[in-house]
Amino acid sequence: MKTQNALHESKNLPIYQHKATLQQAVKDNSFLVVTGETGSGKTTQLPQYLHQNIKLTRKLYTLYYSLRIGITQPRRVAAITVAQRVSQEMHCSLGREVGYQVRFDDCTTQDTVVKYMTDGCLLREILADPVLSQYSVVILDEAHERSLNTDILLGLLKQTLSSPDKASKGRSVPLKVVVMSATLETDKLSVFLGGCPVFTIPGRTFPVTSKFSCAIGPKDTESSVYVKEVVKVALDVHTSEMAGDILVFLTGQSEIEKACDMLYEKAESIDYRYDVQDHKVEGLLILPLYGSMPTDQQKQIFQPPPPGIRKCVVATNIAATSLTINGVKYIVDSGFVKQLNHNSRVGMDILEVVPISKSEALQRAGRAGRTSAGKCFRIYSPAFWEKCMPEYTVPEIQRTSLTAVILTLKCLGVHDCSEKPVRGKVTRLGELMVEFPLPPGLTRALLQAASLGCEDLLLPVAAMLSVENIFIRPGHPEKQKEADKKHRQLGVQAGSCNDFTMLLSVFEKCKASDAPSAWCKDNYIHWRALKSAFSVETQLREILLRLQKKRDFPMEKFNGNKSELFRRCLCTGYFTNVARRSVGKVFCTMDGHGSMVHIHPSSTLFDQEAQLDWVIFHDLLVTSRIYIRTVCPIRYDWVKDLLPKLHEVDVYELSSVAREEVTDEEVAKWVTKEAAKRQTGGSAEDV
Ligand code: ADP
Ligand code: MG
Repeated sequence: MKTQNALHESKNLPIYQHKATLQQAVKDNSFLVVTGETGSGKTTQLPQYLHQNIKLTRKLYTLYYSLRIGITQPRRVAAITVAQRVSQEMHCSLGREVGYQVRFDDCTTQDTVVKYMTDGCLLREILADPVLSQYSVVILDEAHERSLNTDILLGLLKQTLSSPDKASKGRSVPLKVVVMSATLETDKLSVFLGGCPVFTIPGRTFPVTSKFSCAIGPKDTESSVYVKEVVKVALDVHTSEMAGDILVFLTGQSEIEKACDMLYEKAESIDYRYDVQDHKVEGLLILPLYGSMPTDQQKQIFQPPPPGIRKCVVATNIAATSLTINGVKYIVDSGFVKQLNHNSRVGMDILEVVPISKSEALQRAGRAGRTSAGKCFRIYSPAFWEKCMPEYTVPEIQRTSLTAVILTLKCLGVHDCSEKPVRGKVTRLGELMVEFPLPPGLTRALLQAASLGCEDLLLPVAAMLSVENIFIRPGHPEKQKEADKKHRQLGVQAGSCNDFTMLLSVFEKCKASDAPSAWCKDNYIHWRALKSAFSVETQLREILLRLQKKRDFPMEKFNGNKSELFRRCLCTGYFTNVARRSVGKVFCTMDGHGSMVHIHPSSTLFDQEAQLDWVIFHDLLVTSRIYIRTVCPIRYDWVKDLLPKLHEVDVYELSSVAREEVTDEEVAKWVTKEAAKRQTGGSAEDV
């Protein structure tokens, strides 16, 4: 019944009328750009049309038939969710004819002909097979998002297809590339791809009225402030607006969970006899939606709510273009998004919460006008719009570190990766590194450990850092205290003097437990996340074993104790992420940028700063301050030769202040002075 409905629905999508034309256009062109409003059916339908086309003409095109159709997505959740939906529409179980592949999760078989995947996965496939000989068609979806990997894929595929010799080498039939985009800025794309045709799916949208509010001004960037406001507005909409679902935009998992908790609590006290404007509305169904959510929970998002119930989805930006939720009539826009940015002040990529761009705000609002007129409630003021929001979102390629991508490109023999050709050959180590789907620093540390025969220390850590946050911190204050206490106990039990050993210890303890899921529950640990970590560890171990079988895998010797061994391996990968305590609880990064950072409260080392001197850290988080997360104390000796710029930092000046006992007031003064010093030399990114 459900699938019948799905089929019926898919015939109502705007793309359906253009099925034959699209099938023909892909046949006729090497490159094709397809554009259309979000929700018009591009992602779910076009791959099916192409598959059917190939099936029908399989007598003529037997070769095509044995090949796959690959569709890339910038986000893993989108790849998984859409694959699920399409497998339903095609009446097959997921992983058979229709499957997906995302990092550390391959749900495909030999039978898979329609394969949804992240753009990162396709890039890895190109590394092993530059002409993508398994595919008849490759669809790069969500090109308007300008994700780093999609941009790189566009460049690579253009290069491959433009030299016929290269393109046909190792292929039986020519590859077709379709680029799909939700915005109309497709001319640029077409020009980039040699003037290829652009197919526009006509569609109609309904007007959406947008209202600003005065709640959030240019200075209110605290998460707790806008989360509260968003909750208030969503409840107002629920009580005072006519029936229709609500879509709330926030930035990430913890915020979304907090908001949902607050909504549950407040919604309970609504008296539907008196408080609600539309008497047909008799209840509120609150659903979170974020990247690392279990997929069975995600399914609920798409189901229509029971009669009389209003659905309220609290989502990250994933609901802006990647996933379309039917029935949404009201948008509550926080105005913020979490974004990976290369921060020139700190000299590193940082996951930051930043104001969205104006074009993004329009896109978010548009989600309310798919099937009828809608309303968008912006919780920010017109001044915020004017002063804080840029016109467009800067493409990822212009704002994040290119280290991993350049290594990949160079391994593919592409040396003119940017306007400036990149000199230098890839070393043996680089060739080994590129095999791992991990950030370069972590890979380097892992390989160092392997060469010293202690990969068992690093493999679990690498796995734990590759899954969602494993520590649960409930919203309720009492529970929060209890969780914090349990986590502290875990740290003490582990004898762990740092956050990396903490991760290792949690991994090992849980693995050794007879009842791992109960153990997790008891210790406020995400069982689901740990289960993924177990699987990731196995996969990383397989890659490593394969590489170790090679003749020239490097081996070294180490004389020292285990704790030192572990931390020194970390140093080889994290030598760019070094900080030294300067004054009070303030640390100063030591890569030449000298930013002031604090240890994040989630760290086992939080509140023990006084005993620390030099540390390394896994990543940075910027809120009102810059925090370092997953921290480990080290010795200066271990990094001094690894980072040339370390010597340029005026260690003397810092250390003279650091060793004295100072009052909080003095610290504050010193910090302000330092900040002012740096502001003058800062860049636009400091904002
Ligand atoms: P586009 O790619 O053009 O934005 P999609 O193909 O993603 O459009 O969506 C087309 C329709 O399919 C939308 O109405 C959307 O709600 C529906 N849809 C997509 N995924 C699912 C799903 N997992 N469950 C139910 N409906 C879905
Ligand atoms: Mg889409």
